[in-house]
Amino acid sequence: MNSLRDHFVSRQHELLALTCALVEAESPSGDKDGSLAAVSLLASAAATIGSVSSVERITSEEFGEHLCIKAFTDNNSPPIVILGHTDTVHPRGAIKERPWRAEGNRIYGPGIFDMKANCALALEVLLACEAIESCPRSPITILLTCDEETGSPSGRGLVEAETKNARAVLVLEPPASGGRVKTARKGTGMFSLEVHGRAAHAGLDPEKGVSAVLELARQTVRLSELNDPATGTTVTVTMVHGGTHTNVVPAEARAEIDLRFTSASEGLRVESAIRNLKPIDARAQLVVSGGINRPPLERTDGVAALYEHARTIAKLLDFDLGEASVGGASDGNFVGALGVPVLRTHCRRWYSGAWSFVGGIDRQPLRRGQNRPR
Ligand SMILES: [Zn+2]
Repeated sequence: MNSLRDHFVSRQHELLALTCALVEAESPSGDKDGSLAAVSLLASAAATIGSVSSVERITSEEFGEHLCIKAFTDNNSPPIVILGHTDTVHPRGAIKERPWRAEGNRIYGPGIFDMKANCALALEVLLACEAIESCPRSPITILLTCDEETGSPSGRGLVEAETKNARAVLVLEPPASGGRVKTARKGTGMFSLEVHGRAAHAGLDPEKGVSAVLELARQTVRLSELNDPATGTTVTVTMVHGGTHTNVVPAEARAEIDLRFTSASEGLRVESAIRNLKPIDARAQLVVSGGINRPPLERTDGVAALYEHARTIAKLLDFDLGEASVGGASDGNFVGALGVPVLRTHCRRWYSGAWSFVGGIDRQPLRRGQNRPR
């Protein structure tokens, strides 16, 4: 553990330099140029690592490139997959408003937490294994998709293909508060509800109209009744639109619905309830589209065992690794549904380890001039 720690401290400048370059190569989901820039940086860095046997850039028509790096492939045992993404939620130009900066032992920049720094750190792990002459018992696959923040329309198949035979999957998403790893995540569903009514003049003959807005309001109440705090199910109408003019009974209305659930069976139950909504005013028509997007990541025995293993290792670093169950989903949910042990592993303390590259582990304050390593 001490030699690992020393190695990471010695690599702080290089790690920060790559992280900074990745942050400054802005890569919001769907920005193909940004995706290619971020992937180029990582692919170039990976190509210089001795244990890496392949660096594959996989084109995604709409989003840019996914990146798959394989290392320590000398044996045929199931791989450990380190899973992350290169896209961010920050629009291009955000770096101008909030440029890379360091304060104390922290560094800031759009998308650094979720998850540019983590992408850089994943490569450092391979270098660290080499440095301490420790050959992992399993091959290591690093898979970084480019569309995770939009629900992984093109990355999902790749995630499932690369992880289905994995020994374990470590997901690089940010931790829960206090640096706790996430051992359970809710599944998600996204639905749209369109209501078709009948337009009429609100002053002359309102009785001839069928208000889609009124019907939608009633359906919103009905949908909220699907919430179940006991099981953790939440159904939230997040956006509503309706009507055409101030003096017309509205013929059209639409709502967006966000569903979160903790078990596959609960997801199916609520999905069925949403799909089978019936009009309260029989003259109105309802059209439901969408469905379950990500299955839940359930805390299986395999997940619990992997967490205990990680916790034992963290103890060697004097760190009590906590765990958490959260509502947000990630690509780790797809993996959990395959029955593979998953840990959302990138805890804040590891950041702290990484940040010590700016001076955390040895508690050295950041010196001027180190802020923008190149
Ligand atoms: Zn993320």
